[in-house]
Amino acid sequence: MTTIRDNLQSVHARIVAACVAARRRPQDVALLAVSKTIGSEAVRAAFTAGQTAFGENYIQEGVEKMALLGQLPLQWHCIGPIQSNKTRLVAEHYDWAHTLDRLKTAQRLSQQRPANLPPLQVCIQVNVDGGATKAGVAPGAALELAREIVKLPRLKLRGLMTLPEPAPDFQSQKALHLRARALFDELRGAGLALDTLSMGMTTDLEAAIHAGSTLVRVGTAVFGVRAAR
Ligand SMILES: *Cc1c(COP(=O)(O)O)cnc(C)c1O
Repeated sequence: MTTIRDNLQSVHARIVAACVAARRRPQDVALLAVSKTIGSEAVRAAFTAGQTAFGENYIQEGVEKMALLGQLPLQWHCIGPIQSNKTRLVAEHYDWAHTLDRLKTAQRLSQQRPANLPPLQVCIQVNVDGGATKAGVAPGAALELAREIVKLPRLKLRGLMTLPEPAPDFQSQKALHLRARALFDELRGAGLALDTLSMGMTTDLEAAIHAGSTLVRVGTAVFGVRAAR
């Protein structure tokens, strides 16, 4: 049986290989271990193996895990949908939120962020493949939302996040990720100081790194296949 430590090593090796192939520096791509549905003991094992940043989709589940692991210096990222009745939990407990797609949510997070914590680090989720029912702003709406978010005092806008439908091969994965990259470059060109492009998961992290991802969110390759929730 492979251990979480072995898995982390393999994921880091994949990241390094993709960076070499894409002529990028491995230190410019961070690994977020996605621990949704995974127990706190597995998170602890990942921490012992050197992993400090964890991503949770289900806000309440993440907060419960934080309570169990409170003595460890971990960084928690909210990568799931944020309903209005959950903004307070995110503002009070998380370090990052990747899934902002409405100004209203951003305003609530800023209002509810406790004064004793640093600003909440946030990304705008962009719907790069155009699914009508999908979360995320249309690419054409991202700049306007970004300009509003940067005015909010308790948020720090770091970049963009995408969650495209699985694509069958490297080239089609990369084509989707390049749309996010183009938008990222456009926003930076418009004067926004962004440094984070959150994209790529277990099956497409290589394509995402080729397209410019700075943070890959990896669950299955770190913790194994998840049980159905
Ligand atoms: C589950 C999830 C991931 C990780 O997916 P894997 O395929 O298990 O690596 C990344 N990002 C988001 C938003 C997720 O929901």
